[in-house]
Amino acid sequence: MKENDSNTCDPADCSSCNVASCPSATRSTQENQTDEDTGSKLEKRLSHIKNKIIVMSGKGGVGKSTVAANIAMAAMLKGQSVGLLDVDLHGPSIPTMLGLEGRRMVGDEDGMEPVEIGGLKVMSVGFLLESADSPVVWRGPLKMSVIRQFMEDVKWGELDLLVVDVPPGTGDEPLSVCQLITDLAGAVIVTTPQKVAAVDVRKSISFCNELDIPVLGVIENMSGFACPKCNEVTPIFGAEGGQKMADEMAVSFLGSIPIDPMVVRSGDEGRSFVELAELSPAAQSFRDIIDKIIYKLSDRRGG
Ligand code: ADP
Repeated sequence: MKENDSNTCDPADCSSCNVASCPSATRSTQENQTDEDTGSKLEKRLSHIKNKIIVMSGKGGVGKSTVAANIAMAAMLKGQSVGLLDVDLHGPSIPTMLGLEGRRMVGDEDGMEPVEIGGLKVMSVGFLLESADSPVVWRGPLKMSVIRQFMEDVKWGELDLLVVDVPPGTGDEPLSVCQLITDLAGAVIVTTPQKVAAVDVRKSISFCNELDIPVLGVIENMSGFACPKCNEVTPIFGAEGGQKMADEMAVSFLGSIPIDPMVVRSGDEGRSFVELAELSPAAQSFRDIIDKIIYKLSDRRGG
């Protein structure tokens, strides 16, 4: 067979041509090798993390990032080694919420060091941006490769739990996370008490079902009002709504978190709410919720 015989070479089928130097054959071998290398690198890095969970919501503004940051903190305060990965590529709020604005990544040939706050290991696209105002203009495939890098190039070390905060909805970022983390322990879905929110929760649950991701449960945020003076919680949107909704959708209810002005203040000041307002009902809710999540995760792993 002649080299470069365009009549017999089918770039999609290397068996159609026996020319060893054929660029199609060389390219596909290299590509396969690269995929294998990065695949095993990712698996290796993630194999040191016992449980990985994703925090989702149907729409923005329901307090998903607040919940992700506080359950990560609450787990750490219970003695777990925890990582928090913010893949909200277009609106990373975790750095601001934890007072880590302006922090930058450092790394070597082994990978990037996560930013640490009191033992919690944090990684966010916010640490790569010039300033908080810099827009991120990335499309689907690039987003996937950035998320992959966050997982395989970050030196997470040995962790009990990795909490992944994704943007609202069921777009590129949650899909990439679910595809890249093949042993995802489950999803936590954050919602608010309004009836319209139920539609969004249903979408998130369907998304998880389609991808075979276990739903660990639903959290109802901003479910009542916690008085900052006396700590009494008034169920301004009615009681038990979250539980009823979870029952109807046949998923677990992990708990409700009341509206607490201190949540906003701590987020704006970049301080951990569960530590700052330790005695508040909302902080107690975060602790109860993480207890349930840890229990579910240990149950899943057989103790
Ligand atoms: P999302 O990630 O869903 O877009 P955020 O976590 O950024 O939402 O929260 C949106 C705003 O709501 C923030 O200002 C946050 O401080 C506030 N917030 C979230 N949960 C509560 C709560 N339980 N009580 C009071 N404010 C809250």
